[in-house]
Amino acid sequence: MKVSSLFQVFLLTGLGACGSGSPAGGEIQSTAKPLPPAGEQVSNDARATRDPYSYANSEQMRVRHAELNLTVDFATQTLTGQVTLVVERLNDQAGELVLDTRGLDIRRVALNQGGAKLLDLPWRLGEADPVLGAPLLVDVSAAGRRGRFSITVDYTTRPGAEALQWLDKGMTSDGRSPFLYSVAASIHARSWIPLQDTAATRMTFGARLRVPPGLTALMSARTLSADIQTGEYTFSMSQEIPAYLIAIAVGELKYHAFDQRSGVWAEPSVIEAAAEEFEDTPAMIAGAEALYGPYRWEQYDLLVLPPAFSLGGMEHPRLSFITPTLIAGDKSLVGTVVHELAHSWSGNLVTNASWQHMWLNEGFTSYVEMRVVETLYGKAERKMEEVLGYQDLMFELAELAPENQSLVPAVLLKNPDDGFTAVPYQKGAQFLVYLEQAYGREAFDAFLKQYFDHFAFQSVTTEDFLDYLQQHLASVYPGRVSASQLERWIYAPGMPADFVPPVSPELEEIRVVILDWLDGEIELVDIPRSNWGSQQWRYLLGHLPVGTDPGQLAVLDDRFKLTDSGNAIVTSKWLELAVRMGYQPAYRRLEPFLIQVGRSSLINNVYRALAESSPQGLELARDIYRKAGPGYHPTARPSIQALLYPGDRAED
Ligand SMILES: [Zn+2]
Repeated sequence: MKVSSLFQVFLLTGLGACGSGSPAGGEIQSTAKPLPPAGEQVSNDARATRDPYSYANSEQMRVRHAELNLTVDFATQTLTGQVTLVVERLNDQAGELVLDTRGLDIRRVALNQGGAKLLDLPWRLGEADPVLGAPLLVDVSAAGRRGRFSITVDYTTRPGAEALQWLDKGMTSDGRSPFLYSVAASIHARSWIPLQDTAATRMTFGARLRVPPGLTALMSARTLSADIQTGEYTFSMSQEIPAYLIAIAVGELKYHAFDQRSGVWAEPSVIEAAAEEFEDTPAMIAGAEALYGPYRWEQYDLLVLPPAFSLGGMEHPRLSFITPTLIAGDKSLVGTVVHELAHSWSGNLVTNASWQHMWLNEGFTSYVEMRVVETLYGKAERKMEEVLGYQDLMFELAELAPENQSLVPAVLLKNPDDGFTAVPYQKGAQFLVYLEQAYGREAFDAFLKQYFDHFAFQSVTTEDFLDYLQQHLASVYPGRVSASQLERWIYAPGMPADFVPPVSPELEEIRVVILDWLDGEIELVDIPRSNWGSQQWRYLLGHLPVGTDPGQLAVLDDRFKLTDSGNAIVTSKWLELAVRMGYQPAYRRLEPFLIQVGRSSLINNVYRALAESSPQGLELARDIYRKAGPGYHPTARPSIQALLYPGDRAED
C-alpha cells in the first residue's frame, strides 16, 4: 500500500536529523480485547501465535478456501449472498469455528453435506468492538471429526462497510456509471466477508458476482468468465493469499494491454492517458524479476480508480489499484506503480504475519521500489525519491511518540490502520539500505532473492526474518553488523547514531537556488526549471521557510501557475503552503481540489494546515469537509475528522 506521510510538509526549520520524538505526538489509546491492556509492552521476541487484531481461532481451524456468491446492488449499497468456507481442522478436539465480522447482517450458517444438502448450524455474534468488529462463533460439532468440511454463511453487507466505497456516477471521471471498489487492508475484509481476517494465514478464493448489466467486474483473481450484457462474472484465485488482499471493483472500464501479461484498466476517458503514463510497466516487471526472481502471479494489471480513491495504490495480487493522481503526463509519479508491483514479492508473496510487523511488507517494498526505480530510471531519480521519503520520515519522527518510532512498535496500537506512518515504510527501507551497504550489494541482493524464495506464500514475523538473516548473511560475513545494531534499528525509537542520511545532488541544488532567491541574490527568472518534475516541485515547496512572504508566493504563482497546476502532488503541496503562509489567491482552488481528490496523503495535509491556521481556517475546512466528506472512502474519514473535530468522538 502506498499512503505516504499523513503530514506532508517538511519545513526548513525546526527538524533535526534524528527524531527524538514527543510524547504529546500520539497518545496510546487503550487496547480492546483481545488485545493486551493499554500501552502494554510487546517483548522483542514475542512470536504471537495469534494475531492480536483477529478473533479467529486459526491455530485450531483454518479456512483454506472462500467461495463468494454475491449480488452487487448500487441502489442499496450492499452486497448480498453467501460465502462458502472450506475449513481444515488442525485440532481434533475443537468444536467451534471463530470468524471475524464487522457490521455484517448474518442470516444463516449451515454445514454443507454434499450436493445441495445443508444442515443449519448454531451460531452467535459475540460482543462488538468498534475497531475489531464482532466474532462469529459457529458450533461445528455437527461436522464430527472430519479433517476438512465446509460451511456456508448467508449474509448482507451494510452501506457503511469500511472496506467498500460506493461512488455515485458524479464522482467518477466519466460521470456515466456508479463505481464500487474495496480496500480491505489492514483489517477491513471482515466488513464485507465473514472470514479469518488475519495476515497470519492464507487461503485461495473464488467468486460468482452479479453486477448491473453494462458494468465490468474485476477482482484480485483470474477472470474465468465475463458477460457484460448480463453482468455475470466468475473468478478464481488459485494461489493462497491473506484476507486483506481479496479485492473487488465494479464500474465502466476499458482495458489496454501492454503485453501478454500486463495491462491497465481505467474509465474510458482516462484509458488513453493511463496507457501512456504507465507504459513502462512491462519494463518494471522485468527489472524486478532481474533482481528478485520470477513474477509469480501470472498476470499483472493496473486498475486506475476514480479520483476519490483514498490511497496512492493498493497491491492486490494480479491487479494493483492506483490513483489517477499519478497521471502527471511526464511519468514522474510512476514510482508508486513500482511500489505496488514490488509488493508482488514483499507483502503478497512474503507477508507480515500481523500488522505489528508491517515493516516487513512496507519497508521491504519501499526498498525494492528504490532498487527498481534505479534500474529503470537511474540513480539520480532513485536518490530524489529516497530523500523525499526520508524527509517524510523525519517529519513524522518529530511528531510520533517514541514507542511508535520503532520498526516493531513497542506497544500495540488500538487500530492497526494508525501504524501506516513513514516509520515502517521509510525507516524500514533505510534499514535495508544499511544492510546492503554493510554486506555489499551483490551479497545482499542474493540474500533477499533467497529470502523471497524461501518464505514464498508464507506469513512471517520480524523474528523469522532475523533468524534467516543470521543464518544466511550474518554468520557468513561475521563482524559486519552486530546484534545490538540490529536491535537498535528494529526495536529502538529514532534513527541509529551511525545512520547516514541519503543525499540527492539534484535536490540539494534546488534548495540552494530557492534560498538564493529568497535572499534576493538571484531573480526568479534565473531559476532553471525546464525539466523539473514532481519530485523537484515537492522538494522546493517543502523547503520554503516558515514565514515566507505571501508576496513571494504570488511571484512564484505568477511565474509557474501553481494554483492551477494539473499535477495533484504539486497542487496538494502548494495549497498546504498557501494556507500556512496566508496566500489568499490560492484559496479558490481549495474546495474544488478537496472535493475532487480523495487520496488521503494529498488532502490530509491541506485539512491540517487549514485547521491549524486560524479559527476561520478551521471553519472553512469544516465547511468544505461537509461537502467533500461523503465522497471519501470510509477508512479515510476518521483521520480528517480527528483534525477538524479533535476530541469529538461523536463525529467518528
Ligand atoms: Zn505498500
